[in-house]
Amino acid sequence: MSRPMGDSHKRFLQTMMSNGIISSVQAKALHRHCCETHGAHFSPDRLEEFIDVINTHLQPMFMHIRKGMSEEDGAQHYALVNMAETDITRMSSDYADNELELFRKTMDLILDSESGTASSTDLLNCADRLQTKKMKKKETEHVLNKFVQDKWLHEKQGEYTLSTRCIIEMEQYIRTVYQDLIRLCHVCHNIVLQGQICENPECGIKMHYYCVARYFKGRIDPHCPSCSDFWAHEIPEIQPESQSQSSSAREAAAPTPSTSATRRSRRS
Ligand SMILES: [Zn+2]
Ligand SMILES: [Zn+2]
Repeated sequence: MSRPMGDSHKRFLQTMMSNGIISSVQAKALHRHCCETHGAHFSPDRLEEFIDVINTHLQPMFMHIRKGMSEEDGAQHYALVNMAETDITRMSSDYADNELELFRKTMDLILDSESGTASSTDLLNCADRLQTKKMKKKETEHVLNKFVQDKWLHEKQGEYTLSTRCIIEMEQYIRTVYQDLIRLCHVCHNIVLQGQICENPECGIKMHYYCVARYFKGRIDPHCPSCSDFWAHEIPEIQPESQSQSSSAREAAAPTPSTSATRRSRRS
């Protein structure tokens, strides 16, 4: 028999529902907060068990809290995943047909690129050739912004990538639709969009930036773990834990739906 959900579990789930995704640092803090608020027993190393209880109760609704890595810094995240919809139709209640077509095209561009990104210029061109209904520049920018705000895309200096939430939530879809294009990281074996590629054309393995950083840490003469050729890329620095924690703290402090959810539940 599964354990029943207590108020602490329900509060955790409410925050997951309004946020969609949280970092593991946020999840740990939220776990503590939920247990303390509702006088439930709290042990810091029991987060996975705590989430398992919620997942058992989510199963009949085809929902699941799933763990995955951020391509940005390699930090673990937890996303609330809809298991019933396996493709982009999961977004259909929030977006018009031409917006969904633009998202599909964005995914095509990102998956088809070596860098794992799509430029805003390319996306604007795409929007001008949509079959469902063309979009003007302003409208396209607005929709792309919405994708970023809803945490489906991530944007940095005009370059768009799939967000951590998108990768966790649509992993199965990506693996099926883009099976000829996706690359798996040589180190962690997860899908890798943004990373470094071995320059030996007969090898060409790809690794996440943070996997490269961890793999080559302290080695003066880096060689490809597959073909042993010299690794001719600049080795990225390992992001210090404190840095990724402060960025997560900033995210948590930003006016995200979580604060309004807390306010809502406090009022009720
Ligand atoms: Zn990796
Ligand atoms: Zn190689």
